Amino acid sequence: MRTTRQFGQLGLPAIVVHGGAGTFPDLSEEESAVLLQALEAAREAGWEVLAAGGSAYDAVVEAVASLEDSGRFNAGRGAVPTAQGAVEFDASVMDAATGAVGALCAATYPANPVRAARAVAAAGGVPDGPVLLAGTGADDFCAEAGLGAMRPEWLTRGAGAADPRGPLSKEGTVGAVAVDRGGQVAAATSTGGRSGQRRGRVGDSPVPGAGVLAHRCGVAVSATGAGEAFLVAGFAHRVAWERQAGRLLHEAVEVALSAVGELGGTGGGIALSDTGEFVAAFTTPAMARAWRGEGEKEAHLLPG
Ligand code: ASP
Repeated sequence: MRTTRQFGQLGLPAIVVHGGAGTFPDLSEEESAVLLQALEAAREAGWEVLAAGGSAYDAVVEAVASLEDSGRFNAGRGAVPTAQGAVEFDASVMDAATGAVGALCAATYPANPVRAARAVAAAGGVPDGPVLLAGTGADDFCAEAGLGAMRPEWLTRGAGAADPRGPLSKEGTVGAVAVDRGGQVAAATSTGGRSGQRRGRVGDSPVPGAGVLAHRCGVAVSATGAGEAFLVAGFAHRVAWERQAGRLLHEAVEVALSAVGELGGTGGGIALSDTGEFVAAFTTPAMARAWRGEGEKEAHLLPG
């Protein structure tokens, strides 16, 4: 399986965001430009936090919230509906500095699933929990925590979707990884899951160690792609383990993508280390990705 990878060294602080791995079929030049603009806006939202001396954790939450709000990706306002027509959100956050970790899955309530995941982290975490809240339990938590509710008219493709801008990427799970001035890493991932999935189906995105990880070894990871394969392969943990075993970060991501490939899955991942080493790699034809470090910024949809 061919892997496209971009990697290198960014100075601290740095941020990498993704808007999903897939084919991005039939996008006109204009639509591709709109998707890239949304990606860049999210990257800048995270970068602003980092440039002001803020934490990597704040940066990834702001970047992913921006992608959710754009309605252009399969997350937040742009989330794809299940076979039954409802929209279900999965999201996760993890902060290596504090050990904060929180997630929710198959939730319908929150306007910003990534902020809800952060609220779960603030209320729980390891070892006593909760780390991951599901379905109506997650929705009740969001309401009790006073989080903003998603309004049906805000959805760009779910039940009741009325946004004339429309969706651009069904494949666009979103995520961000960042390292701050203090060398601390954080990660966040958010998705509406697979288009037309069975109600209640949950993939890798909200599972720490699968679709998201910010590890104390100094590595942050966010994944996108065939969720079952990423989940079973323990994709994000595999990246951290390979790294701890002495591989370079881009080698570690490639080994983890191969493990996903052995299970028949394709997709991609972004990763960043506490020294500014960064990777965006995918085994699909395309992946929406952007990054910024001191003096360097790029955004791409296609390989190259
Ligand atoms: N990994 C996501 C899921 O399985 C989907 C995707 O990234 O396209 O829910």
